[in-house]
Amino acid sequence: MLRLAIQKSGRLSEDSLKLIRECGISFITSSLKLKTESTNFPLEILYLRDDDIPGYVADGVADIGIVGQNVLVEEGKQALTVEKLGFSKCRLSLAVPKSDQYESVQDLNGKNIATSYPNLLQAYLNEQGVEAHIHTISGSVEIAPSIGLAEAICDIVSSGSTLISNGLKEVERVFKSEAVLIANDTLSEEKRRILDKLLFRIQAVQRAQKKKYILLNAPNDKLQEISDLLPSIKSPTILPLAEHGWSSLHSVVNEDDFWEIIEKIKDAGAQGILVIPIEKMIV
Ligand code: ATP
Ligand code: MG
Repeated sequence: MLRLAIQKSGRLSEDSLKLIRECGISFITSSLKLKTESTNFPLEILYLRDDDIPGYVADGVADIGIVGQNVLVEEGKQALTVEKLGFSKCRLSLAVPKSDQYESVQDLNGKNIATSYPNLLQAYLNEQGVEAHIHTISGSVEIAPSIGLAEAICDIVSSGSTLISNGLKEVERVFKSEAVLIANDTLSEEKRRILDKLLFRIQAVQRAQKKKYILLNAPNDKLQEISDLLPSIKSPTILPLAEHGWSSLHSVVNEDDFWEIIEKIKDAGAQGILVIPIEKMIV
């Protein structure tokens, strides 16, 4: 059985559990339990503080884990990364009080900066040739300037609303992060095989998330033009409609190009366009 460590409760928890479920792996969750076993896949889930996950995976207490790159790199364990997971996207940024004059990162020379990520911050300051005093605190970093602990902070930002509500402005982006799957580097052959199975499923789910299934009707003389506009896995499926001279065309499009393609195929004569999410995609 493979042991997976995920965050017990926090910003990674819900999406981590969702991913495992989307992989067709069932288990019973209870907020009181510290671990559960899947009922249909050789997987045991451990619920932990996110900070502990890289260490536990490195030591082999857990075989694999899901954690933010910010925590992973801060702990110097980036070598354990197996796969980016595309959720819990955020950034580590420097921020200063809104009313401060700020020209460049050089303004932080000699200043006090509060953060929970001293290693990431130090690496960034070294790169920029800035010498500042780092104050490591474990939480509520955003209030440090208002209580006189520091002139600047370096903290996790996603929308920026926490900074604004604390009278701060984001001035530099230090590190970009998303959730990653990590694995111990000395897994037994049997565990490696289970991990490969899990990875195969994760990749199928991820591939599907970036794609949409599209169906449309078009007059036969427009089919070629429309199918040239639709990149598909192999080539689009074309089925005749009951109405003579018309066909239904099915294909798969990238979520990112989606609106642009829709405009073009409409202009080319497509009608009755349906766009449907894809659950899994194996190529
Ligand atoms: P724990 O109690 O497990 O130590 P925590 O308070 O340290 O939890 P959370 O705030 O739950 O951590 O964040 C967990 C991870 O989620 C962060 O390390 C980061 O990778 C990511 N994250 C944090 N804030 C955001 C956000 N606003 N949007 C998206 N992802 C975020
Ligand atoms: Mg934490």
